[in-house]
Amino acid sequence: MRAVLVVGAGFAGAVYARTLAEAGYTVHVIDQRDHIGGNAFDFVDANGIRVHRYGPHLFHTNVAPVFAWLQRFGRWTPYRHRVRAILPDGRLVPLPVNLDTINLVFGEALATDAEAEAFLRRIAVPIAEPRNAGEHLRARIGDVLTDLFFRPYTRKMWGLELEEMDASIVRRLPIRFDSTDQYFPADCYQALPTDGYTALFQVIFNHPAITLQLETTFVRGMERNYSFCFNSMAIDAYFDHRLGDLPYRSLRFHSRTVSSWDRHDISVRNYTDTGPFTREAWWHCLPDHLVTETGRRSVTVEEPCDYRQNNNERYYPVKTADGRYQTLYQEYRKLAEALPNMTFIGRCGTYQYLDMDQVINQSLAGARRWLAARG
Ligand SMILES: Cc1cc2nc3c(=O)[nH]c(=O)nc-3n(C[C@H](O)[C@H](O)[C@H](O)COP(=O)(O)OP(=O)(O)OC[C@H]3O[C@@H](n4cnc5c(N)ncnc54)[C@H](O)[C@@H]3O)c2cc1C
Repeated sequence: MRAVLVVGAGFAGAVYARTLAEAGYTVHVIDQRDHIGGNAFDFVDANGIRVHRYGPHLFHTNVAPVFAWLQRFGRWTPYRHRVRAILPDGRLVPLPVNLDTINLVFGEALATDAEAEAFLRRIAVPIAEPRNAGEHLRARIGDVLTDLFFRPYTRKMWGLELEEMDASIVRRLPIRFDSTDQYFPADCYQALPTDGYTALFQVIFNHPAITLQLETTFVRGMERNYSFCFNSMAIDAYFDHRLGDLPYRSLRFHSRTVSSWDRHDISVRNYTDTGPFTREAWWHCLPDHLVTETGRRSVTVEEPCDYRQNNNERYYPVKTADGRYQTLYQEYRKLAEALPNMTFIGRCGTYQYLDMDQVINQSLAGARRWLAARG
């Protein structure tokens, strides 16, 4: 039997489905939602604006084969993402923190990388061996920047104090000593699908060997009718949470229509206040997102919450300083490895936060390994 079941029509499922279909397998894809694209799904709203239903999705990668694979399915428009943070007094400053952010926050006039670096060394808190995210940040950028850009954000986003979080979460956060204000300066390929992600997914799934069934939730036993199942559902949910829950943070999206707006080209603005919201997205500032001019614009504000308060919408796996949920995931993984005809894939199947390029890269490699093992 060369029929395979793929659970989930997000990037993980789409890559597996297309790769196996091109290798001669018949692929049946199901998704519990009423649309394809997983969390990358977008649509054009009543204001003529393309909106990403699950928050702004900016594609960026250094992995050339991933971008080459995506380019087979549609045109891409180059786009370099920039973000501003709104200070308590309303001023906008670059994020991640760079030379200009430091000058604006502290009223300094630092001119060179060396001056900025020396300034941060002066304000850093001496902590020899930081044990958690809070200590790591304070040792690197001092209390003022930590408390402005990271402490309220972490409380809202993760429902945790910085001191309860693993240092690995912030260790890779870039701090720049020059005026570079690109969000992903190191990534060679940065672009958005010219006709939107949903159109891209339509082309990926458009293969004679792929059938797609939406609004269909996976039920254990469905896989019996197939030679194999690639499953992007939450791994703990598959096992009825028998070892405990793998928790996630989620986001509620609040969209509004505006009929006047500032002339700016920054699509994402982060809040630094202690209110419940983390950031706002101005969709028309992204290329190809103003689809029809209606004289109106759409803005979406994000409010983090526990996934159970948001219809079990699982977005970000929780990482605590003691790593307890990653340990629990390993227990689920052992159970999954004993299943003869099923592999868990993607963000919720492997309980990791993965950017789109990482999911695509892992899924391309996983599908090719699976095919190679079958000759
Ligand atoms: C708010 C937010 C912003 C993001 N921004 C970026 C960004 O800027 N850049 C970037 O590279 N990445 C971003 N990401 C990450 C990106 O969304 C993921 O990398 C990508 O969506 C993962 O694809 P996936 O297929 O693993 O999961 P998903 O996209 O979540 O797809 C999984 C699919 O499986 C379906 N499913 C789950 N359980 C079942 C079931 N039991 N039965 C049937 N169907 C089921 C779901 O309905 C879903 O459609 C962001 C993520 C979030 C949450």
